[in-house]
Amino acid sequence: MIRRVCVICIVTLLAAGCALIRPPSTRRTELVFDTPCTVTVFGRNANRAIDAVFEEMRRIDRIMNAYDRSSVVSELNEAAGRAPVSVPEELFRVIETGLAFGEVTDGAFDISIGPLVALWDIGGESPRVPSATEIEDVLDLVNYRDVLLLDYQRQVLLKRAGMRIDLGGIAKGYGADRAAELLHEIGVESALLDFGGNIYAVGSKAQDRPWRIGIQDPFEPRGNYLGVLSIADTSVVTSGTYERYFEANGKRYHHILDPSTGYPVDNGLMSVTIIASSSMTADALATGVFVLGIVDGLALVEAFDGVEAILVDENRRLYLSSGVGERFVPSDDRFTVVDRVKTE
Ligand code: ADP
Ligand code: MG
Repeated sequence: MIRRVCVICIVTLLAAGCALIRPPSTRRTELVFDTPCTVTVFGRNANRAIDAVFEEMRRIDRIMNAYDRSSVVSELNEAAGRAPVSVPEELFRVIETGLAFGEVTDGAFDISIGPLVALWDIGGESPRVPSATEIEDVLDLVNYRDVLLLDYQRQVLLKRAGMRIDLGGIAKGYGADRAAELLHEIGVESALLDFGGNIYAVGSKAQDRPWRIGIQDPFEPRGNYLGVLSIADTSVVTSGTYERYFEANGKRYHHILDPSTGYPVDNGLMSVTIIASSSMTADALATGVFVLGIVDGLALVEAFDGVEAILVDENRRLYLSSGVGERFVPSDDRFTVVDRVKTE
C-alpha cells in the first residue's frame, strides 16, 4: 500500500515537473487543402498565431486549388490553349518551382498531371479505372514542358487546350513553408504543423529537445508508426499509397500517377518520406521520388544537399539515404533496414 502511494506521488511529481518546464500548447484542426490540417503552437498568444496560420492557408488554397472553380489555377486551366493568364507572384513562383522539379525528376513529377487526375477521379466522387484509349487520349496533354512562363509579365500559358495544372503534389508544401515563416514573423518559437502528411517542425519542442515525428506504417491503420524521426526547424513529408485510393477488381488504385504510363505508380513502393528544410522541396520530391522508384529516387535524393529520404517497399524493406543517421529510430524489427542500395 505504502509502495503504491509512493509510486503515485512520484508520478504526480514528475507530471508537475513536466508542466513546469514545458510551456502549454494549443492545438487546432481545420479542413484546408482538402485535408485535415493540424497546427500546434507552444507559448503565449497561441490562438492568435493559429488563427493567422489558417487564414493564410485558406488564402493560398483559394489561389492554388484546382478543384475550386474560382481559384486562379482554375482560371489558368480554363484558358489553356487560348491565352496567357497573369497570376500572383507567389503562384508564379510555385509553378516555376514545380516545373524545376519536373526537370530534375525527368518528368516523374509533373504539375500538368491535371487531365489524368480528373480522368481517374481518385479521391473524387466517382473514381473508376479508365479504358486504355481514354488514358492514351489524355496522356498527350500531360507535359510540364508545355507550361510556359512569361517572366516579364508574370503570366502563365498552358500551350494546348485541355491541359490542366494540378498543384496537389506541391501546394501543401508551399503552405507549410509560408506557415512556418509566418509563425517566425509573429514570434512563435515552437510549433508543429501537420498538413495531411506534410509536417513542419518550427523550432524545437522545448528546452532544445527535438520534435519526435512518427512515420506512418503503410501496412497499418493511421497512427501506427514504423519509426520515429527527431527533427527541429525541418519539414518531413510522406507520400504513400494509403493516402487516397480506391479499389476495383481486387486491386488498389492510389493517387500518385506515373505521367509516362497514365496509371498509378506500381513499382513496389508503399511510401516515400523526405526530410528537408523546405517543405515545398520535400513535398515535390516525396511525389517525384515515389514515381522514380527506389534506385533512381535515392540517387536523386543523394544529389541534393540537406535532403534525406526513407523509402518503404512492399516487402517491408526500409531504404535510407546516406544522411538520415541517428535521427531515425525504427519502432521494432518488423522492417529490414537497407542503407546501401545497389545501382546496377
Ligand atoms: P498527398 O499529400 O495529398 O498524399 P502527394 O504529395 O503525395 O499528396 O501528391 C499526390 C497528389 O499530387 C495527387 O493527389 C495529385 O493531385 C498530384 N499528383 C499525382 N501524381 C503526380 C505526379 N506524378 N506529379 C505531380 N503531381 C502529381
Ligand atoms: Mg507531394
